[in-house]
Amino acid sequence: MSLPPGSTIGIIGGGQLGRMSAMAAARLGYRCHIFTPEVASPASQVAAQTTVADYTDHEALKTFAASVDVITFEFENIPAASLQLLTSLKPVHPSAEVLAISQDRLDEKNFLNSIGAPTAPFAAIETEADLSAAIATLGLPGVLKTTRLGYDGKGQAMLRTPEDAAAAFNALAPKPLVLEGFIDFACEISVIIARGADGSITSFDPVENRHKHHILDLTLAPAPLPLATLAEATRLGRLIAEKLNLIGLLAVEMFVTASGTLLVNEIAPRPHNSGHWTIDACPASQFEMHIRAVAGLPLPPASRHADAVMKNLIGPDDMADWPAILATPGLIAHHYGKTEARPGRKMGHINRLFPKGSLPGEFGIMDALKHK
Ligand code: AMP
Repeated sequence: MSLPPGSTIGIIGGGQLGRMSAMAAARLGYRCHIFTPEVASPASQVAAQTTVADYTDHEALKTFAASVDVITFEFENIPAASLQLLTSLKPVHPSAEVLAISQDRLDEKNFLNSIGAPTAPFAAIETEADLSAAIATLGLPGVLKTTRLGYDGKGQAMLRTPEDAAAAFNALAPKPLVLEGFIDFACEISVIIARGADGSITSFDPVENRHKHHILDLTLAPAPLPLATLAEATRLGRLIAEKLNLIGLLAVEMFVTASGTLLVNEIAPRPHNSGHWTIDACPASQFEMHIRAVAGLPLPPASRHADAVMKNLIGPDDMADWPAILATPGLIAHHYGKTEARPGRKMGHINRLFPKGSLPGEFGIMDALKHK
């Protein structure tokens, strides 16, 4: 059953992903009601209604649920009890089960391996003794991570020698942790899949992601890799979405090794930073696909009419260039409406399009992103 125009979509989370989802929803005739602890959030600036309350405020969640027709997320770390409450009141997409898996790195990796999706070798770490044993088995270097609430490189530490172990173990919280073997990857890619309640599925072309200080810096669409590698990434993404019984959008981040092997690093059942290029390069963006999937609308093919490069605008340094970016023909500018440009904060992004099949090489990309 599809939601008629004029219906209200509830979005948990008020960040830029919610903002761009609400803008896509508005174009399809829907209203959005944002639930966020943040006052004047990026999403609430473009939505019909906002509830500002804590994710644990059950009274506020009940009132919110009563005012919407369907509930979705731009942020997946909402407490399980709150999720259970929402699920008892209204349709929630993606489901609580999907969110539970993606909230916990260990559950995520166990799930991925159980369906035949390869990951880095890993071990669960509850105690320092577990860590010593895991180092003996997996070897070093390794990456020690919290299982919950990590993002943009937060909640993780690189272990190069056994002497690094104790300090990293003590610094990382909450426990348990997970130790992953360090993957000497050739590049990082991601693929974004949309899946509807009727099992219809579509996937955007895999993209290459480059990070700076653990934060996404550039996305190249499509990833400049052999077709067989791209096809395998798409196969894995679709397999994961199907095995999760997903209704909504799923981003799957993967490492590509020098020999072309793919290892899944992380999944996120929501719009993703590496899909921002789709706003300008595709007839239906990742945000429109997200809204269509949760509203029960048909999913068009996730096709692309152009190649694209996306660059994140991070913190005050990048935002100092905002006037020059606006003055440069060909740069498509997106601002998230955040007033304070703190270092490391995602403030906006720019997209640049190229005719299909003509994504420039290494130097061309830097040239293409230059502004006056
Ligand atoms: P994550 O928070 O898991 O997405 O990790 C953030 C970034 O750290 C990734 O995008 C990689 O660049 C790097 N990283 C994470 N895990 C590993 C690993 N097992 N081996 C090598 N690099 C990693």
